[in-house]
Amino acid sequence: MAKDPQLSTSQLSIGYPLKRENKTIASDLKLALQAGEFVCLLGPNGSGKSTLIRTLSGMQAPLAGEIDLKGHPLAEIAPRERAKAISVVLTETIPTGTMDAYSMVSLGRHPYSGWFGGLSPHDKQRIEWALNAVDAKAFAARQVAELSDGERQKISIARALAQEATVMLLDEPTAFLDLPRRVELMSLLRKLAHKETIALLLSTHDLDLALRFADRLWIMTEGGELIQGYPEALALDGRLAKAFANKNIQWDEALGSFRAHTEPCLYVYMPSQCTRSTWTRRALERLGYGITDSESKATFSIQISGNTESPQWNVTHKDHTKTFSSITDLIDWIQTTYTNP
Ligand code: ADP
Ligand code: MG
Repeated sequence: MAKDPQLSTSQLSIGYPLKRENKTIASDLKLALQAGEFVCLLGPNGSGKSTLIRTLSGMQAPLAGEIDLKGHPLAEIAPRERAKAISVVLTETIPTGTMDAYSMVSLGRHPYSGWFGGLSPHDKQRIEWALNAVDAKAFAARQVAELSDGERQKISIARALAQEATVMLLDEPTAFLDLPRRVELMSLLRKLAHKETIALLLSTHDLDLALRFADRLWIMTEGGELIQGYPEALALDGRLAKAFANKNIQWDEALGSFRAHTEPCLYVYMPSQCTRSTWTRRALERLGYGITDSESKATFSIQISGNTESPQWNVTHKDHTKTFSSITDLIDWIQTTYTNP
């Protein structure tokens, strides 16, 4: 991607000015959000994601340092010009008032039309485009208060899109959505960033989705560090694991996800590598087993054979082999045979 920073910072400190002493959340941040890239901002609760988003949008003053919007200091840009360039979607400002969805989206045009200005043909065109982009045409005429969380979320994104800004900052826009809707929204935002050349920053708790969809990750740590890199690079070099490290969860590099840290006392040998073995492994881990590469260390071993239509789990235990034709039967057997390993 050609480097075309829309929003950049140097020696930025973010936090809160308190009476005695500033509360610094992170300092010396050197960040650049490029045109057409989709960056996901991750970090534990309270690490400062919302503070960073509010600061980058100009809603909150930095404690120190510079923020540049296309090379001009953000602080020197008039609010209306700023609103044309940066659109923000904050979870806490998701609308609930008495207004229909179309009017809500049209608020995104105010930097252009002013509060009392009517909508020009171009404004209307842009609103239609934004509603279509998030697939919200079907409920545009309904009252915002009567929409589902997911529909409201789409409307607030459409409002931001109607604004025609080149920078979009979204604070946890997927928080209230179910998994299919979260995947849909992430995929949509990524596509918009690329197609419309928007510099898009989105904070989320969805590590898995961020790893799959983001062009780059920014991870805020509890220690006020901000780690940047490609998702796969951070996963492989251990920085992702370190950022979320905690005594109760463990990063599983092979699976690309975190799992609860339990010390298994019984082990299973399972040499197969297929979709069924992935889910069998998850069942075993959930039941408190470890997976071992050494057959001699294992309490029993599982061989997976057959095909999707007639799968087989062959369990060998002390020279006896039992065969199960479903994972349900296998789990039932493990639970009744080995209570609480
Ligand atoms: P995140 O969005 O990652 O959960 P926040 O940016 O909301 O984190 O918060 C970062 C830190 O700033 C937290 O310790 C929080 O308590 C603190 N904080 C948030 N808002 C304020 C405020 N208005 N005044 C002082 N501290 C605040
Ligand atoms: Mg937050």
